[in-house]
Amino acid sequence: MKLKGKVALITGGSRGIGAEIAKEFSKEGAFVVINYISNDRAAEETIEEIKAVGGYVIGIKADASDFNEAKNLVDSTIDKFGKLDILVNNAGISKVGLFIDMKEKHWDEMLNINLKSVFNLSNHVTKHMLANNGGAIINISSMWGGVGASCEVIYSASKGGIDAFTKALGKELAPNNIRVNAIAPGVIETDMNKWMNENEIDDLSNEIPMMRFGKPKEVAKLAVFLASEDSSYITAQVINVDGGMV
Ligand code: NAP
Repeated sequence: MKLKGKVALITGGSRGIGAEIAKEFSKEGAFVVINYISNDRAAEETIEEIKAVGGYVIGIKADASDFNEAKNLVDSTIDKFGKLDILVNNAGISKVGLFIDMKEKHWDEMLNINLKSVFNLSNHVTKHMLANNGGAIINISSMWGGVGASCEVIYSASKGGIDAFTKALGKELAPNNIRVNAIAPGVIETDMNKWMNENEIDDLSNEIPMMRFGKPKEVAKLAVFLASEDSSYITAQVINVDGGMV
């Protein structure tokens, strides 16, 4: 077991990529805290699935984009488990559309949830990791953060911010044995892409060298690697899981 006895907090862990990371972490022996914003049912299903195979997991509902709620989330995790070894900043939203149709509220919402949440959680967690002399932070970015996507300008900007944040914080915390890396997924089969019809799915699949969307588990496997000692000399990196798309 690669994460035996480790405590991991995963934002947006109720569904999609975050839920799969929670399951894979649990299989590797970690105690898992699943954070989510509103979908109690999805969170309960993920929690039940993990418990059914003997995992230890709790759910905490909180808005990761709110600085104080993020602090409570971190404090509650440490109150419960006495420490926090792994943070996965996964919570995120997307909105597809022409840039000229985007309003200030879209910028604020996407930047707050996708990027400010990463600051919030990392800021609170780092203090504990420094005291513990180690830890791992994994940020879920997107391939669009590196190259930009038409009709996803704000989303791309939020993810590009995550990439720069990861590289900078990784360098700053490297002497303290805290590794900070990002995963940049391509198109992954989750609710985030449910808006596409079959033709759109086919067209997009044809643009991917592997000719298919990725599965949440294919992202989660990299998260396990980055959280574990297997990646002990890797920090400040953004690693793509995108079927060769960019
Ligand atoms: P998803 O299925 O839509 O799930 C989003 C998760 O984020 C849910 O657990 C949701 O909670 C949570 N969330 C949203 N706002 C939150 C907030 N303010 N505070 C706390 N939790 C919040 O998304 P996904 O596809 O798994 O995406 C996960 C991450 O991967 C995102 O950062 C996304 O940008 C990134 N990503 C996804 C893809 C893709 O193709 N799917 C590609 C590249 C990158 P509730 O269940 O309560 O709503």
